[in-house]
Amino acid sequence: MTHTPGNVFMVVAPSGAGKSSLVRALLDRDPSIVLSISCTTRAPRPGEVDGREYRFVTNEAFAQMRQNDELLEWAEVHGNFYGTPRDRIDAATRAGHDVLLEIDWQGARQVKQRFAQAIGIFILPPSIEELASRLKARGQDEDAVIARRLLAAGGEIAHAPECEYVIINQEFSVALAELGQIVSAARLRFASQASRNAQLFAQLGIPAAH
Ligand code: 5GP
Repeated sequence: MTHTPGNVFMVVAPSGAGKSSLVRALLDRDPSIVLSISCTTRAPRPGEVDGREYRFVTNEAFAQMRQNDELLEWAEVHGNFYGTPRDRIDAATRAGHDVLLEIDWQGARQVKQRFAQAIGIFILPPSIEELASRLKARGQDEDAVIARRLLAAGGEIAHAPECEYVIINQEFSVALAELGQIVSAARLRFASQASRNAQLFAQLGIPAAH
């Protein structure tokens, strides 16, 4: 098990819960957080840019990355593969930066095995009706895809108990503030403070946590 000075945040949610908008707004407010860019075999949606939202790769390239052990975690979601490249995460956390991963519950489970202190944050929609209407309003996917995602949402939500924190995204500004509070609280945890302020802790003779 590896303990690193940077915090690892995992934001988990069903599609349409507003996860990406919340994460984007959080990073605008706090650019010191490093966003993990996942690899995926799904096709880019209109407006998505390779290397920004995702690295869009072929099935063959993805399989190669898995084989080379380049992925911290990976999962099949809605019929496509998604994975977190480990190089960026390892470098950022070792340098003391906080890292944020937008992943599904399967990935969050795997990350926990590697970073026991990783913090799971589950974003819930305020109701199932609201979730359905947000998925339709997106208008980027076909009806069949939306139906599949709604079904999958139930499966994802069933894993909410595996996360430490839950945010109900009814009012965007409230949800964003809550996300910021979780980040702030994590930075104040003993282990985070001790590694960021090693000199002070040594000077004050504070013993390491057991
Ligand atoms: P979307 O295709 O809507 O961008 O993402 C579909 C699902 O895949 C979301 O639940 C998203 O969190 C998840 N996902 C995105 N990147 C990764 C990743 O690197 N690993 C895992 N396990 N899930 C991911």
